[in-house]
Amino acid sequence: MTKIVIVGAGQAGSQCAMSLRQGGFEGSITMLGDESHLPYDRPPLSKAVLKSDMEIERTIYRSAEAYSDQGIELRVSTPVQSLDQAAKRLTLADGSSLDYDILIVATGARARSLPLPEAAQPYAHLVRSWDESLALKAKLEGGTKDKPLVVIGGGFIGLEVAASARIMGWPVIIVEADSRLMGRAVHPRISELCLAKHRAEGARVELNTMTRDIEATGDGLALTIGDERIEAAGLVIGIGALVNTEFLQGSSIYSERGILTDANQRSADPSIYAIGDVAICEDRYLASGVRLESVQNAIYGAKLCAAAILGKEAPRQEAPWFWTDQYDYGLQMVGLYSPELTWIERNNGDDSVTLIGLDGDQIKAGQVINASQDFAVMRRAVDTQLPVDPASLSDTSTKLKALILKK
Ligand SMILES: Cc1cc2nc3c(=O)[nH]c(=O)nc-3n(C[C@H](O)[C@H](O)[C@H](O)COP(=O)(O)OP(=O)(O)OC[C@H]3O[C@@H](n4cnc5c(N)ncnc54)[C@H](O)[C@@H]3O)c2cc1C
Repeated sequence: MTKIVIVGAGQAGSQCAMSLRQGGFEGSITMLGDESHLPYDRPPLSKAVLKSDMEIERTIYRSAEAYSDQGIELRVSTPVQSLDQAAKRLTLADGSSLDYDILIVATGARARSLPLPEAAQPYAHLVRSWDESLALKAKLEGGTKDKPLVVIGGGFIGLEVAASARIMGWPVIIVEADSRLMGRAVHPRISELCLAKHRAEGARVELNTMTRDIEATGDGLALTIGDERIEAAGLVIGIGALVNTEFLQGSSIYSERGILTDANQRSADPSIYAIGDVAICEDRYLASGVRLESVQNAIYGAKLCAAAILGKEAPRQEAPWFWTDQYDYGLQMVGLYSPELTWIERNNGDDSVTLIGLDGDQIKAGQVINASQDFAVMRRAVDTQLPVDPASLSDTSTKLKALILKK
């Protein structure tokens, strides 16, 4: 009987286990996760979990019984320590070992931190896991709000946390080293609109600015932002992620940047696959050689991996897509942002904008704020590579759907 072991019990691992069973895999599936929780959804951690009384049960994908009913052995609180590639054997943190025929690496990433003095650490927060989000929530609910919360990093997670904290009444300072918000992923127009939104909602946003000299003050911390010394109640560090690949050190597929895979999520070792945030697909439609961190990438990659293992046809090609919610701005994007594309803007009024990224007469990317119908249309156009008439697209008197999906 073929033995599949999945390391990492998160979005990608849990989807892959289910897809294998749905596809008819009859061998054994063991999934090992180092957290104490059942696999859960991370997007609410920087949004609803902070702002509302959302319990972990609402973020869990499936009950323990749902896994056992499918014959999936799920072992939580079980970190994997190392891999013996030649023997196809994993060593777990408790010293025991586990053999596999096929290994699926689904260990995701963790939030990158900053070097901090020990006394300042209780006031600094990362937001990647349920436990980290709860620790920040306790700070936000318990504090007196007379000193600000400082968010280092104007990327998606930093901005979502900043919006949640402002909604809870906190004074917020966002510090971003780059000249614009979410600079690697979004069009400058989206950065500009989001910057205006955060400022209009009362956050102070410092661009082109670094923080330094962080120290504990007894009830919080002090840090220098640009040239100014500021006392803060707490700090949120949102400066990107590091992949969890340490247990692969010494193996031929180890990299601290992520595990390289082919279009089917298979690594250079034919018995090892990698999926989700930890994987870099060398050959993936519209996102080759890029390490993506999104729900869509985790789910789609898991399905590709399961199909490849089962020898079944791959699921239909899907362009990468992502969403983020900040205040009442619902930002959605499909494809990857590139300044090389020709961008057309449709101003829909009422805090709503649609940006269309064209290569010739094909839509390769799209980004919207509060325009989910346009987003759905652009997803279809990007996935199917329908030719469009670029000159017509800025005509806001006609719906985008009518302009793109003419037939
Ligand atoms: C705060 C936050 C907000 C987000 N918001 C959005 C959003 O709005 N839209 C969107 O598309 N995406 C969002 N994402 C991204 C999305 O949640 C991730 O891309 C997705 O969770 C990746 O799934 P994964 O299975 O690869 O990794 P994970 O879900 O992180 O699962 C990996 C698991 O493996 C475990 N693990 C690591 N090492 C080991 C080991 N050695 N042994 C055993 N277990 C191990 C980890 O602890 C973890 O439990 C957000 C992420 C975060 C953190």
